[in-house]
Amino acid sequence: MTGKKITIGHLYPDLLNLYGDRGNIACMMQRCIWRGIEAETIEFNTGDAIDFTKLDIVLLGGGSDREQAIVCRNLLEIQGLFKEYVEDNGVVIAVCGGYQLLGKYYKTNAGTIEGLDLVDIYTEQEEGRLIDNIVLQSDLADMPVVGFENHGGRTYINDNKPFGRVLYGSGNDGKSGYEGVVYKNVIGTYLHGPLLPKNPQVCDYLIRKALERRYGEAELEALDDCLEKRANAYIYNRFVK
Ligand code: GLN
Repeated sequence: MTGKKITIGHLYPDLLNLYGDRGNIACMMQRCIWRGIEAETIEFNTGDAIDFTKLDIVLLGGGSDREQAIVCRNLLEIQGLFKEYVEDNGVVIAVCGGYQLLGKYYKTNAGTIEGLDLVDIYTEQEEGRLIDNIVLQSDLADMPVVGFENHGGRTYINDNKPFGRVLYGSGNDGKSGYEGVVYKNVIGTYLHGPLLPKNPQVCDYLIRKALERRYGEAELEALDDCLEKRANAYIYNRFVK
């Protein structure tokens, strides 16, 4: 054991849990455990108090418009503490519905859902859904980032850095050629779970950032990612090559 420990906070799995976003937790835990880093996940359901000072990584998963409207009320109660965590370089991975909720608002045909306003982005529902496999080139990984997207909202990221450039698929708004957002140690993305098992370098990026913040340094032992690389290459070759 390294004597190091990572605590993951899974926010609102009772509502934000589309497409097995939970697989991202299993991946982060396992990649820590393989390296002798202790890992723990705490689930917070709606209404639970959250002590952000104990957390190293926060996962906010995807949800339908209906679930987002419900969860939004709880999120606004913790907005101040969540913002402090983000500004203090807390690590966040927010997927799809969770990604939209990071921003100022998500305007749907049924009304506007107020967001957490943690990142200067906003989302508006437009005609048709963007549904397909997706492949990105991202500065955060040497390998392509592969995944699946399914969203009616189009996200506009202003001057923020995108998570990646779209090689195949639609991305943030189907027009800009970019996907997701990176702000401090926050990644917001439309790529649904299991994002991290298919993209181990993105998983390690999050773990590394979390360890650096808690312990000041992070040397991550290389793992045998032979199967993960083959799965990733299969998707890349199928849609891009
Ligand atoms: N409800 C959002 C949309 O359709 C996000 C859905 C999701 O998390 N897949 O844009």
